[in-house]
Amino acid sequence: MSTDVGLLRADAVIVGGGLAGLWAALHLPAEWEVIVVDKGRGPDHGSSPWAQGGMAVAAGPDDSPSLHAADTFRAGADTCHEDAVQALVDEAREALDELVLLGCAFDRADDGSFDLNREGGQSVARSVHAADATGREIMRVVVAEARKRAQRIVGSASRILLDDGRCAGVRVSTDHGEVDVLGRSTLLAVGGCGALYEQTTNPETATGDGIALAYDAGADVADCEFVQFHPTALGAGGTRRVLLTEALRGDGAIVVDASGKRFLLDVHPDGELAPRDVVARAIAEAGEAFLDARPIGAAQLRTRFPNVTKAAADAGFDLTASPVPIAPAAHYFLGGVATDIWGRTTIPGLFAAGECAATGVHGANRMAGNSLTEAVVFGRRAAMTMTDEAEPTGVPVVEDDSEPAVRAIGADDWAKVRHAMSSGAGLIRTKHSLEQALRALAGVSGSSSVKAAATAGALICRSALERIESRGVHFRSDHPDRQRGWDGRHVTLGEKENR
Ligand SMILES: Cc1cc2nc3c(=O)[nH]c(=O)nc-3n(C[C@H](O)[C@H](O)[C@H](O)COP(=O)(O)OP(=O)(O)OC[C@H]3O[C@@H](n4cnc5c(N)ncnc54)[C@H](O)[C@@H]3O)c2cc1C
Repeated sequence: MSTDVGLLRADAVIVGGGLAGLWAALHLPAEWEVIVVDKGRGPDHGSSPWAQGGMAVAAGPDDSPSLHAADTFRAGADTCHEDAVQALVDEAREALDELVLLGCAFDRADDGSFDLNREGGQSVARSVHAADATGREIMRVVVAEARKRAQRIVGSASRILLDDGRCAGVRVSTDHGEVDVLGRSTLLAVGGCGALYEQTTNPETATGDGIALAYDAGADVADCEFVQFHPTALGAGGTRRVLLTEALRGDGAIVVDASGKRFLLDVHPDGELAPRDVVARAIAEAGEAFLDARPIGAAQLRTRFPNVTKAAADAGFDLTASPVPIAPAAHYFLGGVATDIWGRTTIPGLFAAGECAATGVHGANRMAGNSLTEAVVFGRRAAMTMTDEAEPTGVPVVEDDSEPAVRAIGADDWAKVRHAMSSGAGLIRTKHSLEQALRALAGVSGSSSVKAAATAGALICRSALERIESRGVHFRSDHPDRQRGWDGRHVTLGEKENR
């Protein structure tokens, strides 16, 4: 170990204190020492507390796990892993019951059944929710439970530590210096990558660190070309955009052009509730588009969507009174660190779960509500495997002069990365735009301390270049059609660069 680096040991190291990481912590053996490392400060780090519309579970009388699976496959455009989807739909209800038992207060109908939102890609209403602040309610309960179980360290994991090819923990940059946090098993649960783009619904912590850390250590990453853009973010503001939940459209809000004409039914028979990629591209192509939530009614808007109504009002828009401008924004990372259905990555002792993992559940497009479900189902699965496969670890050796995978990044460099990604690897890409983005990222990377963001961005661009077709959220205007030869195939980058 290099000098001046502190050392902590635990049974399990969990990197990322969002829903996937903390749910895993709650499912590790009670006698284990668990350390959660998280770079977020304040109450709202990570996407989990921001989730609005709900968690997908086949809880309605007209629903079933097989219908949930069918909708997930349909959205995923022939790219979902069947065994992963099966695990998701089979275990969703049990996870929901566990959350309720812990105290999550989801909205109920008069007869006591769950009140369900219908969102994009769902053939029946399937999103269990708590008004329009589902993530906040879930995290209220999960964070309180996790506090009893795990020690939290504020810091950014900057590299994965290997001991003879096995993951031994992570190096963490904290305000008090560097610490090697060693564990018998390590979970990456660091969330998505929306903050690599100029407009995003994600918090600033969502910088793609999962793929950067894992790839740097030699693990495979998969499906990185699949970045989902949410069609209805508020079309005003800076990098961070207010999300106008899909459930608004499920409740009757419509999308209109500058002349007030509804146009999504001309594009897809499901209109406002067509898959997100279809809606997002149609809105981007319209140039100017607006969400008209008035059909829901002012009283209903204030009761069912109080947080969204307030967030829009804080930004100067009244959802109850007039259509508000909308624009697509980077929202969800479908790809990530390649895992099997038990959370194992290609590095022994290293696991991944939640948005940073590529389990194959979402394929090329995510059905709304499935990411909260994925975080709990696969967070628990990872915890079970971590328990079974834990091994004692030595103290790994890190060369003093070797570069960490993740380093702090200045505002100017961030602007360059975000510009490169938005103009080159956004909602609509081409070979030319992706190559330009790669060149820009290489320039930024060489200039200073932007290694992780540049690595993550480059993995997204390289994967998007590999997939010479359009499918789901990946749209290449130079290859606008889906190619049957790509059905079921995945772009995997890693040590062997296999696919
Ligand atoms: C506005 C919004 C609304 C959404 N609505 C819904 C919805 O209604 N339904 C649904 O299913 N999904 C929704 N999603 C998606 C869903 O919230 C996320 O996919 C899910 O919560 C991800 O959970 P996670 O635990 O994987 O990651 P996160 O909750 O993002 O947690 C990751 C944590 O890792 C930490 N971290 C990152 N890098 C490092 C590092 N290098 N070192 C240490 N810590 C690190 C971060 O600080 C963060 O706390 C929404 C997302 C957003 C942004």
